[in-house]
Amino acid sequence: MSRVLIIEDERDIVTGLRDAFEHHGFEVRSAHDGDQGLRLALTGEADVIILDLMLPKRDGIEVCRELRERNVQTPIIMVTARGEEADRVTGLEIGADDYMTKPFSTRELIARIDAILRRTTREDTQLEQVRIGDATVDFTKYVIIHGSERHSLTDREMHVLRFFLDHPHEVISRNRLLTEVWGYDAYPSTRTIDTFVYRLRQMIERDAERPEHLLTVRGVGYKLVP
Ligand code: CA
Repeated sequence: MSRVLIIEDERDIVTGLRDAFEHHGFEVRSAHDGDQGLRLALTGEADVIILDLMLPKRDGIEVCRELRERNVQTPIIMVTARGEEADRVTGLEIGADDYMTKPFSTRELIARIDAILRRTTREDTQLEQVRIGDATVDFTKYVIIHGSERHSLTDREMHVLRFFLDHPHEVISRNRLLTEVWGYDAYPSTRTIDTFVYRLRQMIERDAERPEHLLTVRGVGYKLVP
């Protein structure tokens, strides 16, 4: 069972989140000020931390910074009230993983927690090598070996490929790739995706012009058939 720590001084919000999280199957702990939150977070027992920005005793930025300085790498989703946008950048700079502005939808928050949990558990259990057709992807060395050819992958190419591998046979829209691989804020054009896919095809397909694995779904996006 995944454990979520809520650090938030508004009791109504805590109550609402607790109900929704427990209903979703999370185990919940909560703290109502920065000191108590930091203490609980430092135990390392939480899988994800929901961290409010404005808190009594010690604010969210301080809590986040302190945790990272002490090498606690628990994923953190920062939550701020509207009008505190300027703090957003700071939050991400000091090591928060995601960010939401109040009032937010609980469903959206849960979706983001799930995404973070998938990412972190996946990194723990990820196979180092995966085969796609004749090609072998080596995630530790950032290379694709295809016959006698050896292609180096950039970090972003690796993430795109990993995303496809995590959702085999699923039709993935360009927008979804942009959101989930590039992030919520960076929006390169969807053509960027096409360029990435073309390059990946050159590495994994026998014939990039007639792909057998990384297929185009017309009008929507792509899907991977490994
Ligand atoms: Ca607050």
